Amino acid sequence: LNRGFLFADGVYELLRTYNKKLFRYDDHFDRLKFSLEELNLKVPDKKKLTNIIAELVSLNQLEENNFSVYIQITRGSDFKRQHKFPALNIDQTLMIWLTPISPDRLENENGIKAITHEDLRWQRCDIKSILLLPNILAKQKAIEQDATEALLIRDGYVMEGSHTNLFIIPDGVIKTPPLSNYVLKGITRKVILELCTGSGMIVKEEKISLDELLSANEIFLTGTSTEVKPVIELSGQKIGSGMPGKVTRKVQQLFYNYINEY
Ligand code: PMP
Repeated sequence: LNRGFLFADGVYELLRTYNKKLFRYDDHFDRLKFSLEELNLKVPDKKKLTNIIAELVSLNQLEENNFSVYIQITRGSDFKRQHKFPALNIDQTLMIWLTPISPDRLENENGIKAITHEDLRWQRCDIKSILLLPNILAKQKAIEQDATEALLIRDGYVMEGSHTNLFIIPDGVIKTPPLSNYVLKGITRKVILELCTGSGMIVKEEKISLDELLSANEIFLTGTSTEVKPVIELSGQKIGSGMPGKVTRKVQQLFYNYINEY
């Protein structure tokens, strides 16, 4: 009767380490806190959470590896299946697991294919809810069409990928859709904005129409496990020359420099 299992009544976070340090942990914790508070869930004590992760690192003997940390919190297990929130004395469920990360960056080198797909998600995509069915269906459509990611289109504009944020280069400048209730506040997105702005590149947070997306010279995706991934083909059509573009390579290099020194 866990409400995560019955109703997708819960939230999650995915973070990772670089150089064995949790990457932008404060940002991830803040987003977790935001997601929990938006759904009237209790926020765990940050110190306690950090200690659990440290204990899992030790139990799994991962001190020598980089790894990802998956955190899920649900509204707990009730005594019967009912929509209304359970009584206040029901404990929330917290689950955390760690997975070693493979250093393989082949897709980041070569680029990937993507498709466009109607955005079928709800109106609170800024909450990192475990309710991911529309993301899963879009991603599966991409796989069935020999692609890797689905870019989600709402009312003629692209919002983000099924599990990534997105940037395009129409003509020298870099553009990414503005944050809204239809876009997750990606931590990698935030890092890329900081790095690009810091190195004098112009990045605009502006709505991107489907036409603009299809005619972009370059497209790249960002995410914790995705890092910076070029899209070289969209719905069967080449993006630019069909190879990762110059600006994307520059952004990738900025990102690699940053994580290497993290
Ligand atoms: N958008 C969606 C829908 C996602 O699931 C993810 C992955 N968490 C992202 C964007 C990228 O966010 P982040 O850079 O924080 O991993």
